[in-house]
Amino acid sequence: MIWEELKATQSIVVKMLTNSIKKNRLSHAYLFEGPRGTGKKEVANALTKSFFCQQKQGFEPCDNCSDCKRIDSGNHPDVHTIKSEGQTIKVDQIRHLKKEFSFRGMESTKKVYLVEDAEKMTIGAANSILKFLEEPDGEALAVLMTTQYQQIIKTIVSRSQVLSFAPLSQQILVEKLIDKGINKPDALAVSQITFDLEEAIQFCHDNWIAQARSKVIQLVDEIHLRPKFVFITLQDQWMSFFKEKEDMLLGLDLLMIWYRDVLRIQVDQKEQIVNIDQENKLEEQALKLSQRKLGSNLQAVMDAKRRLGANAAPQLLMEQMLLRLQEG
Ligand SMILES: [Zn+2]
Repeated sequence: MIWEELKATQSIVVKMLTNSIKKNRLSHAYLFEGPRGTGKKEVANALTKSFFCQQKQGFEPCDNCSDCKRIDSGNHPDVHTIKSEGQTIKVDQIRHLKKEFSFRGMESTKKVYLVEDAEKMTIGAANSILKFLEEPDGEALAVLMTTQYQQIIKTIVSRSQVLSFAPLSQQILVEKLIDKGINKPDALAVSQITFDLEEAIQFCHDNWIAQARSKVIQLVDEIHLRPKFVFITLQDQWMSFFKEKEDMLLGLDLLMIWYRDVLRIQVDQKEQIVNIDQENKLEEQALKLSQRKLGSNLQAVMDAKRRLGANAAPQLLMEQMLLRLQEG
């Protein structure tokens, strides 16, 4: 049940496409736009199968016939994927494709063109693709995919049906990460810093998020339990781990998430905390820190983030933030 599964994450897109398949009224060209990791390729794959499969039940492809299998393995003779070579997708790539199709004995009169990073098409390439779609003999379907909708040229937008892929909901993102073997506290933390599944998976790569969380917890421990060591920890643990500016911004995000969790414990919203594996520590701090102090801690971290964004020296702004966090 390919479409059924996709429906869980992209219900509107799936509903529109499956309706059109059912009524046999697919458009010639679709433009799938939306952030990375929202399932554009998966939906294009399902659409291609439904387009070719001779044994589909309603709109669901059988996923077992030679059409379906060859689509999955990427060597269906009438399905062509076009990717950028370098910075652009050039008209020559499309012309080459046309030749290739005319030389090869085609299996049917149906053809599918899948264009990834469609914003990279030159105007020539775009026009050439659109021309394909007007060929009177046979049926053609083009699926253009992009994360940069505003860069797509107007002629394409006006001649295709645009389908917008929504960012994954936080809950779905967490479920997908857990499916991929990420533990729940890490998945929850990542879901606070991105909506993008691919990016989220990158954060979990090599246990980065787990390590980052432990650096944050260690720093918070030093601030409240061993204030004398806090600058050593900053030097030895924090600065050496969050080396790049982008990394440190994420570290500060995690620190904010920590203090927000403490606040949530105080106001009886335990079910909303992110650091679910640190409940005891959060409870301890919730007893020690006043709501006012927590508010000013959050402000201190936000200020540090802003200054880092404005290219202040990382070491200095971290030290100043820690002094503020240590104040009584
Ligand atoms: Zn099939």
